[in-house]
Amino acid sequence: MSRFFSKRYASLTPYTPGEQPQDRKYIKLNTNESPFPPSARAIAAAAEEAGRLQLYSDPECLRLRQALAERYAVKPEQVIVTNGSDEALNFAFMAFCDEEHPAVFADITYGFYPVYAEINHVPYREIPLREDLTIAPEDFYDAKGTIVLANPNAQTGVALPRTAVEEIIRRNAENIVIVDEAYVDFGGESCVELTEKYDNFLVVQTFSKSRSMAGARLGFAIGNEALITDLNTIRYSNNPYNVNRMTLAAGVGILADRTYTEANCRTIVENRAFTEQALQELGFTMPPSSANFLLARHAAVGGETLYRKLKERGILVRHFSKERICESIRITIGTREQMEALVANIREILEETE
Ligand code: PMP
Repeated sequence: MSRFFSKRYASLTPYTPGEQPQDRKYIKLNTNESPFPPSARAIAAAAEEAGRLQLYSDPECLRLRQALAERYAVKPEQVIVTNGSDEALNFAFMAFCDEEHPAVFADITYGFYPVYAEINHVPYREIPLREDLTIAPEDFYDAKGTIVLANPNAQTGVALPRTAVEEIIRRNAENIVIVDEAYVDFGGESCVELTEKYDNFLVVQTFSKSRSMAGARLGFAIGNEALITDLNTIRYSNNPYNVNRMTLAAGVGILADRTYTEANCRTIVENRAFTEQALQELGFTMPPSSANFLLARHAAVGGETLYRKLKERGILVRHFSKERICESIRITIGTREQMEALVANIREILEETE
Protein backbone atom coordinates (compact mmCIF):
# COMPACT_ATOMS: atom_id res chain seq x y z
CA MET A 1 0.00 0.00 0.00
CA SER A 2 1.40 3.41 -0.86
CA ARG A 3 1.33 6.18 1.73
CA PHE A 4 -1.18 7.95 -0.51
CA PHE A 5 -3.85 5.23 -0.52
CA SER A 6 -7.11 6.63 0.81
CA LYS A 7 -7.92 5.70 4.39
CA ARG A 8 -11.43 4.96 3.19
CA TYR A 9 -10.13 1.82 1.48
CA ALA A 10 -7.24 0.91 3.75
CA SER A 11 -9.02 -2.12 5.22
CA LEU A 12 -10.51 -3.36 1.93
CA THR A 13 -9.81 -6.99 1.06
CA PRO A 14 -10.27 -7.27 -2.70
CA TYR A 15 -12.05 -10.16 -4.38
CA THR A 16 -9.73 -12.97 -5.50
CA PRO A 17 -10.71 -14.13 -8.97
CA GLY A 18 -10.05 -17.72 -10.06
CA GLU A 19 -6.73 -18.35 -11.78
CA GLN A 20 -6.48 -17.43 -15.47
CA PRO A 21 -3.09 -19.02 -16.23
CA GLN A 22 -1.37 -17.76 -19.37
CA ASP A 23 1.62 -20.14 -19.22
CA ARG A 24 0.51 -23.70 -19.86
CA LYS A 25 -2.65 -25.18 -21.27
CA TYR A 26 -4.91 -26.62 -18.60
CA ILE A 27 -8.23 -28.39 -18.74
CA LYS A 28 -9.82 -25.32 -17.25
CA LEU A 29 -12.65 -26.16 -14.89
CA ASN A 30 -12.14 -23.39 -12.35
CA THR A 31 -14.14 -20.27 -13.25
CA ASN A 32 -17.47 -21.58 -14.52
CA GLU A 33 -16.88 -20.50 -18.09
CA SER A 34 -18.53 -22.27 -21.00
CA PRO A 35 -16.38 -24.88 -22.76
CA PHE A 36 -18.05 -23.91 -26.03
CA PRO A 37 -16.99 -21.00 -28.26
CA PRO A 38 -19.26 -17.99 -28.70
CA SER A 39 -21.98 -18.26 -31.33
CA ALA A 40 -20.83 -17.55 -34.89
CA ARG A 41 -23.42 -14.77 -34.95
CA ALA A 42 -21.90 -13.11 -31.91
CA ILE A 43 -18.41 -13.33 -33.40
CA ALA A 44 -19.50 -11.91 -36.78
CA ALA A 45 -21.40 -9.05 -35.12
CA ALA A 46 -18.44 -8.13 -32.91
CA ALA A 47 -16.01 -8.29 -35.86
CA GLU A 48 -18.19 -5.98 -37.92
CA GLU A 49 -18.50 -3.53 -35.06
CA ALA A 50 -14.71 -3.47 -34.59
CA GLY A 51 -14.54 -1.29 -37.70
CA ARG A 52 -16.42 1.43 -35.83
CA LEU A 53 -14.27 1.56 -32.71
CA GLN A 54 -13.38 5.22 -33.32
CA LEU A 55 -16.89 6.02 -32.08
CA TYR A 56 -18.17 5.77 -28.51
CA SER A 57 -20.69 3.04 -27.84
CA ASP A 58 -24.41 3.83 -27.47
CA PRO A 59 -24.83 4.99 -23.84
CA GLU A 60 -28.43 3.81 -23.94
CA CYS A 61 -27.49 0.33 -25.23
CA LEU A 62 -30.80 0.54 -27.05
CA ARG A 63 -30.59 -2.37 -29.51
CA LEU A 64 -29.44 -4.78 -26.88
CA ARG A 65 -32.01 -3.58 -24.35
CA GLN A 66 -34.73 -4.04 -26.96
CA ALA A 67 -33.50 -7.55 -27.72
CA LEU A 68 -33.40 -8.44 -24.01
CA ALA A 69 -36.85 -6.92 -23.45
CA GLU A 70 -38.22 -9.09 -26.24
CA ARG A 71 -36.46 -12.20 -24.93
CA TYR A 72 -37.78 -11.75 -21.37
CA ALA A 73 -41.19 -10.23 -22.23
CA VAL A 74 -40.58 -6.95 -20.40
CA LYS A 75 -40.28 -3.30 -21.53
CA PRO A 76 -36.86 -1.91 -22.58
CA GLU A 77 -37.23 0.63 -19.73
CA GLN A 78 -37.06 -2.30 -17.31
CA VAL A 79 -33.60 -3.33 -18.51
CA ILE A 80 -30.10 -1.98 -17.76
CA VAL A 81 -26.97 -3.33 -19.46
CA THR A 82 -23.65 -3.53 -17.61
CA ASN A 83 -19.98 -4.50 -17.92
CA GLY A 84 -20.44 -8.04 -16.66
CA SER A 85 -23.11 -8.77 -14.07
CA ASP A 86 -20.46 -7.86 -11.49
CA GLU A 87 -21.03 -4.24 -12.45
CA ALA A 88 -24.82 -4.59 -12.12
CA LEU A 89 -24.30 -6.03 -8.64
CA ASN A 90 -21.96 -3.23 -7.62
CA PHE A 91 -24.42 -0.63 -8.94
CA ALA A 92 -27.20 -2.32 -6.95
CA PHE A 93 -25.12 -2.23 -3.74
CA MET A 94 -24.44 1.47 -4.39
CA ALA A 95 -28.07 2.26 -5.18
CA PHE A 96 -29.97 0.14 -2.67
CA CYS A 97 -27.80 -0.40 0.42
CA ASP A 98 -26.91 2.01 3.21
CA GLU A 99 -26.83 2.16 7.02
CA GLU A 100 -30.61 1.67 7.21
CA HIS A 101 -30.58 -0.99 4.49
CA PRO A 102 -27.63 -3.28 5.22
CA ALA A 103 -26.88 -6.01 2.70
CA VAL A 104 -28.11 -9.47 3.73
CA PHE A 105 -26.81 -12.62 2.05
CA ALA A 106 -25.94 -16.26 2.74
CA ASP A 107 -22.69 -17.20 4.51
CA ILE A 108 -21.74 -19.36 1.54
CA THR A 109 -22.45 -17.61 -1.73
CA TYR A 110 -20.71 -15.43 -4.32
CA GLY A 111 -17.56 -14.04 -2.71
CA PHE A 112 -17.95 -10.64 -4.31
CA TYR A 113 -20.99 -9.65 -2.20
CA PRO A 114 -19.01 -8.81 0.97
CA VAL A 115 -16.46 -6.95 -1.16
CA TYR A 116 -19.19 -4.80 -2.73
CA ALA A 117 -20.53 -4.10 0.74
CA GLU A 118 -17.10 -3.05 1.95
CA ILE A 119 -16.08 -0.88 -0.97
CA ASN A 120 -19.40 0.96 -0.66
CA HIS A 121 -19.11 1.24 3.14
CA VAL A 122 -22.32 -0.66 3.62
CA PRO A 123 -22.87 -2.92 6.65
CA TYR A 124 -23.76 -6.53 5.89
CA ARG A 125 -25.11 -9.60 7.62
CA GLU A 126 -24.54 -13.23 6.62
CA ILE A 127 -27.26 -15.82 7.07
CA PRO A 128 -25.91 -19.37 7.51
CA LEU A 129 -26.98 -22.02 5.05
CA ARG A 130 -28.40 -25.19 6.57
CA GLU A 131 -26.05 -28.02 7.50
CA ASP A 132 -26.57 -29.59 4.04
CA LEU A 133 -25.62 -26.28 2.35
CA THR A 134 -29.16 -25.51 1.19
CA ILE A 135 -30.83 -22.14 1.78
CA ALA A 136 -33.57 -21.99 4.43
CA PRO A 137 -35.96 -19.46 2.79
CA GLU A 138 -37.63 -18.63 6.12
CA ASP A 139 -34.32 -17.33 7.46
CA PHE A 140 -34.63 -14.55 4.88
CA TYR A 141 -38.14 -13.47 5.92
CA ASP A 142 -38.31 -9.96 7.41
CA ALA A 143 -34.55 -9.68 6.97
CA LYS A 144 -34.47 -5.90 7.57
CA GLY A 145 -32.03 -5.16 4.78
CA THR A 146 -31.38 -5.47 1.06
CA ILE A 147 -31.33 -9.18 0.32
CA VAL A 148 -28.92 -10.57 -2.26
CA LEU A 149 -29.60 -14.16 -3.24
CA ALA A 150 -27.70 -16.10 -5.88
CA ASN A 151 -30.17 -18.56 -7.38
CA PRO A 152 -28.89 -21.17 -8.13
CA ASN A 153 -26.51 -20.37 -5.31
CA ALA A 154 -22.85 -19.81 -6.05
CA GLN A 155 -20.41 -22.48 -4.87
CA THR A 156 -23.19 -24.99 -4.07
CA GLY A 157 -25.34 -24.93 -7.23
CA VAL A 158 -28.47 -25.46 -5.15
CA ALA A 159 -31.58 -23.72 -6.54
CA LEU A 160 -34.67 -22.38 -4.81
CA PRO A 161 -37.99 -22.77 -6.62
CA ARG A 162 -39.69 -19.58 -7.83
CA THR A 163 -42.42 -19.97 -5.22
CA ALA A 164 -39.83 -19.81 -2.43
CA VAL A 165 -38.22 -16.68 -3.91
CA GLU A 166 -41.65 -15.07 -4.25
CA GLU A 167 -42.37 -15.73 -0.60
CA ILE A 168 -39.07 -14.05 0.36
CA ILE A 169 -40.03 -11.01 -1.76
CA ARG A 170 -43.52 -10.87 -0.15
CA ARG A 171 -42.07 -11.14 3.35
CA ASN A 172 -39.70 -8.21 2.74
CA ALA A 173 -42.08 -5.68 1.19
CA GLU A 174 -40.19 -2.72 2.68
CA ASN A 175 -36.86 -3.87 1.30
CA ILE A 176 -35.38 -4.81 -2.04
CA VAL A 177 -34.64 -8.39 -2.96
CA ILE A 178 -31.93 -8.89 -5.59
CA VAL A 179 -31.72 -12.31 -7.21
CA ASP A 180 -28.48 -13.07 -9.04
CA GLU A 181 -29.40 -15.57 -11.79
CA ALA A 182 -25.88 -16.03 -13.20
CA TYR A 183 -26.46 -19.82 -13.39
CA VAL A 184 -30.20 -20.01 -14.00
CA ASP A 185 -30.00 -21.37 -17.56
CA PHE A 186 -28.58 -24.70 -16.36
CA GLY A 187 -31.71 -25.85 -14.58
CA GLY A 188 -32.97 -23.10 -12.27
CA GLU A 189 -36.35 -21.39 -12.44
CA SER A 190 -35.98 -17.76 -13.51
CA CYS A 191 -37.86 -15.18 -11.47
CA VAL A 192 -37.82 -12.46 -14.15
CA GLU A 193 -41.63 -12.62 -14.45
CA LEU A 194 -41.93 -11.54 -10.80
CA THR A 195 -40.44 -8.13 -11.69
CA GLU A 196 -43.87 -7.29 -13.20
CA LYS A 197 -45.61 -8.04 -9.94
CA TYR A 198 -43.28 -6.60 -7.27
CA ASP A 199 -41.66 -3.16 -7.17
CA ASN A 200 -39.03 -4.34 -4.65
CA PHE A 201 -37.49 -7.01 -6.84
CA LEU A 202 -34.45 -6.95 -9.14
CA VAL A 203 -33.01 -9.80 -11.23
CA VAL A 204 -29.37 -9.77 -12.35
CA GLN A 205 -28.12 -12.01 -15.16
CA THR A 206 -25.00 -12.51 -17.24
CA PHE A 207 -23.82 -13.49 -20.73
CA SER A 208 -20.72 -15.08 -19.19
CA LYS A 209 -21.92 -18.62 -18.57
CA SER A 210 -24.68 -20.10 -20.76
CA ARG A 211 -23.95 -17.64 -23.58
CA SER A 212 -20.18 -18.29 -23.77
CA MET A 213 -19.20 -14.62 -23.47
CA ALA A 214 -17.24 -14.32 -20.19
CA GLY A 215 -14.43 -12.47 -21.95
CA ALA A 216 -16.80 -9.90 -23.46
CA ARG A 217 -17.97 -8.70 -20.01
CA LEU A 218 -21.71 -8.37 -20.43
CA GLY A 219 -24.45 -8.48 -17.82
CA PHE A 220 -27.85 -6.94 -17.25
CA ALA A 221 -30.54 -6.35 -14.68
CA ILE A 222 -34.31 -6.42 -15.02
CA GLY A 223 -36.70 -4.77 -12.58
CA ASN A 224 -39.43 -2.29 -12.15
CA GLU A 225 -38.77 0.94 -14.13
CA ALA A 226 -38.10 3.05 -11.01
CA LEU A 227 -35.36 0.67 -9.83
CA ILE A 228 -33.75 0.75 -13.28
CA THR A 229 -33.85 4.58 -13.22
CA ASP A 230 -31.96 4.49 -9.90
CA LEU A 231 -29.36 2.12 -11.33
CA ASN A 232 -28.96 4.42 -14.35
CA THR A 233 -28.29 7.36 -12.03
CA ILE A 234 -25.37 5.35 -10.67
CA ARG A 235 -24.28 4.13 -14.12
CA TYR A 236 -24.26 7.61 -15.71
CA SER A 237 -22.32 8.85 -12.67
CA ASN A 238 -19.65 6.18 -13.22
CA ASN A 239 -19.31 5.56 -16.93
CA PRO A 240 -22.09 6.13 -19.47
CA TYR A 241 -20.12 4.03 -21.99
CA ASN A 242 -19.79 1.10 -19.63
CA VAL A 243 -20.24 -1.54 -22.35
CA ASN A 244 -18.10 -1.41 -25.48
CA ARG A 245 -19.43 -1.51 -29.05
CA MET A 246 -18.18 -5.01 -29.89
CA THR A 247 -19.70 -6.50 -26.79
CA LEU A 248 -23.06 -4.80 -27.36
CA ALA A 249 -23.14 -6.15 -30.92
CA ALA A 250 -22.11 -9.65 -29.81
CA GLY A 251 -24.90 -9.59 -27.22
CA VAL A 252 -27.51 -8.88 -29.89
CA GLY A 253 -25.94 -11.63 -32.01
CA ILE A 254 -26.16 -14.34 -29.36
CA LEU A 255 -29.72 -13.42 -28.40
CA ALA A 256 -30.67 -14.06 -32.03
CA ASP A 257 -29.10 -17.53 -31.76
CA ARG A 258 -31.20 -18.96 -28.95
CA THR A 259 -31.07 -22.52 -30.26
CA TYR A 260 -27.26 -22.45 -29.91
CA THR A 261 -27.46 -21.36 -26.27
CA GLU A 262 -30.15 -23.90 -25.47
CA ALA A 263 -28.29 -26.78 -27.11
CA ASN A 264 -25.14 -25.90 -25.14
CA CYS A 265 -27.10 -25.75 -21.88
CA ARG A 266 -28.60 -29.18 -22.57
CA THR A 267 -25.12 -30.61 -23.18
CA ILE A 268 -23.81 -29.09 -19.93
CA VAL A 269 -26.76 -30.54 -18.00
CA GLU A 270 -26.05 -34.00 -19.49
CA ASN A 271 -22.34 -33.70 -18.71
CA ARG A 272 -23.19 -32.62 -15.18
CA ALA A 273 -25.32 -35.74 -14.67
CA PHE A 274 -22.49 -37.91 -16.04
CA THR A 275 -19.92 -36.28 -13.74
CA GLU A 276 -22.14 -36.38 -10.68
CA GLN A 277 -22.75 -40.09 -11.09
CA ALA A 278 -19.09 -40.89 -11.82
CA LEU A 279 -17.95 -38.92 -8.76
CA GLN A 280 -20.56 -40.54 -6.54
CA GLU A 281 -19.32 -43.95 -7.66
CA LEU A 282 -15.86 -42.85 -6.50
CA GLY A 283 -17.25 -41.97 -3.06
CA PHE A 284 -17.82 -38.21 -3.44
CA THR A 285 -20.79 -36.36 -2.01
CA MET A 286 -22.16 -33.08 -3.37
CA PRO A 287 -25.20 -30.88 -3.04
CA PRO A 288 -27.69 -31.28 -5.93
CA SER A 289 -26.58 -28.75 -8.55
CA SER A 290 -28.74 -26.79 -10.97
CA ALA A 291 -25.69 -24.86 -12.19
CA ASN A 292 -22.71 -25.50 -14.49
CA PHE A 293 -20.55 -26.72 -11.62
CA LEU A 294 -20.45 -29.27 -8.79
CA LEU A 295 -19.15 -28.75 -5.25
CA ALA A 296 -17.76 -32.18 -4.43
CA ARG A 297 -16.02 -33.60 -1.37
CA HIS A 298 -14.43 -36.92 -0.50
CA ALA A 299 -13.79 -38.28 2.99
CA ALA A 300 -10.35 -39.64 2.08
CA VAL A 301 -8.77 -36.59 0.44
CA GLY A 302 -9.01 -32.92 1.39
CA GLY A 303 -10.10 -30.14 -0.96
CA GLU A 304 -6.75 -28.39 -1.05
CA THR A 305 -4.82 -31.61 -1.78
CA LEU A 306 -7.21 -32.60 -4.52
CA TYR A 307 -6.96 -29.15 -6.08
CA ARG A 308 -3.14 -29.28 -6.00
CA LYS A 309 -2.86 -32.82 -7.36
CA LEU A 310 -5.26 -32.07 -10.19
CA LYS A 311 -3.31 -28.94 -11.05
CA GLU A 312 -0.07 -30.94 -11.25
CA ARG A 313 -1.88 -33.14 -13.74
CA GLY A 314 -2.98 -30.17 -15.86
CA ILE A 315 -6.55 -29.86 -14.58
CA LEU A 316 -7.64 -26.67 -12.87
CA VAL A 317 -10.55 -26.68 -10.45
CA ARG A 318 -11.43 -24.12 -7.77
CA HIS A 319 -10.66 -24.49 -4.09
CA PHE A 320 -12.00 -22.11 -1.44
CA SER A 321 -10.36 -21.81 1.95
CA LYS A 322 -13.66 -20.72 3.48
CA GLU A 323 -14.98 -22.72 6.41
CA ARG A 324 -17.63 -25.35 5.54
CA ILE A 325 -16.47 -25.68 1.92
CA CYS A 326 -12.68 -25.91 2.32
CA GLU A 327 -12.80 -29.71 2.16
CA SER A 328 -14.51 -29.54 -1.24
CA ILE A 329 -13.49 -28.61 -4.75
CA ARG A 330 -15.72 -26.76 -7.18
CA ILE A 331 -15.65 -28.30 -10.61
CA THR A 332 -16.95 -26.41 -13.64
CA ILE A 333 -18.81 -28.67 -16.06
CA GLY A 334 -16.99 -28.79 -19.40
CA THR A 335 -17.17 -31.02 -22.45
CA ARG A 336 -17.73 -34.75 -22.06
CA GLU A 337 -14.05 -35.38 -22.91
CA GLN A 338 -12.91 -32.92 -20.24
CA MET A 339 -15.14 -34.55 -17.64
CA GLU A 340 -13.91 -38.02 -18.57
CA ALA A 341 -10.31 -36.79 -18.14
CA LEU A 342 -11.23 -35.26 -14.77
CA VAL A 343 -12.84 -38.46 -13.51
CA ALA A 344 -9.92 -40.63 -14.71
CA ASN A 345 -7.40 -38.35 -12.97
CA ILE A 346 -9.39 -38.25 -9.75
CA ARG A 347 -9.61 -42.04 -9.80
CA GLU A 348 -5.81 -42.24 -10.05
CA ILE A 349 -5.31 -39.69 -7.27
CA LEU A 350 -7.62 -41.68 -5.00
CA GLU A 351 -5.72 -44.88 -5.79
CA GLU A 352 -2.43 -43.12 -4.90
CA THR A 353 -3.90 -41.91 -1.61
CA GLU A 354 -5.09 -45.32 -0.44
N1 PMP B 1 -22.80 -13.79 -9.90
C1 PMP B 1 -22.34 -15.00 -9.61
C2 PMP B 1 -23.11 -15.83 -8.66
C3 PMP B 1 -21.16 -15.47 -10.19
O1 PMP B 1 -20.68 -16.67 -9.85
C4 PMP B 1 -20.48 -14.66 -11.12
C5 PMP B 1 -19.25 -15.18 -11.84
N2 PMP B 1 -18.09 -15.16 -11.14
C6 PMP B 1 -20.98 -13.39 -11.37
C7 PMP B 1 -22.15 -12.99 -10.77
C8 PMP B 1 -20.27 -12.40 -12.26
O2 PMP B 1 -20.24 -12.76 -13.57
P1 PMP B 1 -19.94 -11.72 -14.72
O3 PMP B 1 -19.42 -10.43 -14.11
O4 PMP B 1 -18.94 -12.40 -15.59
O5 PMP B 1 -21.25 -11.49 -15.40
